[in-house]
Amino acid sequence: MPLRAPLALVLGLLLLVTGCGRAGSRPGSGTAAPAWSTAPSPTPTPVATPSPKRTGPPPPVRPRPTGLPAGLRKTTGVRGVALTFDDGPDPVYTPQVLDQLRAARVKATFCVIGSRARRYPDLVARIAREGHQLCNHSWDHDIELGRRSTAAIRADLKRTSAAIRDAVPDARIPFYRQPGGRWTAEVVAVAKELGMRSLHWTVDPQDWAKPTGPTITKRVTTAARPGAVVLLHDGGGDRRATMSACRHVIKDLKRRYGIVKLR
Ligand SMILES: [Zn+2]
Repeated sequence: MPLRAPLALVLGLLLLVTGCGRAGSRPGSGTAAPAWSTAPSPTPTPVATPSPKRTGPPPPVRPRPTGLPAGLRKTTGVRGVALTFDDGPDPVYTPQVLDQLRAARVKATFCVIGSRARRYPDLVARIAREGHQLCNHSWDHDIELGRRSTAAIRADLKRTSAAIRDAVPDARIPFYRQPGGRWTAEVVAVAKELGMRSLHWTVDPQDWAKPTGPTITKRVTTAARPGAVVLLHDGGGDRRATMSACRHVIKDLKRRYGIVKLR
């Protein structure tokens, strides 16, 4: 027994760590980090641990779509352009974006991930309080969500909206954006059934691929047209380049077209 107890602890900790990957796909994984940080650190040598059971969604049921379905919103409908920020809320970058938007006196749309909204309700509350638009971006950024069963899609979107409304009880969530832009007719239909329009984009500078700030700025400002919806990211990784680009992007777009809140 004296030997077994520490082994069990090590195995348990390994399971805890490997079970809560970046995506945080399991309920309660958001509370795993503090437990790890206060635990004794035995620096376990890699031993053959049983691979954690996958509790994620079942395999997709539909073929990969070949094109975009009908019914996607891609422009603002007016001359002004819209800024959209995906994959937050993030405790480092979302406040920086909000500060920049407030300083420039412009509104944006935040496509938030449900599991992150549950973890950072104060940030969701600030987004709403400062007059920005909220958009459902699925519970855990499941890029295959549109290929799953209608019931699975509905459950995911409802769970995400519920997490947003836990933070902001009277929140309006007029938009849904499919992770990865992997739209299907089915996900568009379920979003509509739940009162959300499907929000795509016009300009994607691919800031998620970590180009430099000046590159992001150049991509956005050269591709922007009247009515453009610009896709940027305030979560999901190191967004320092996006943050520095935003200073220029906001100023440039505001001057050339005006920045409008999506409605
Ligand atoms: Zn995303």
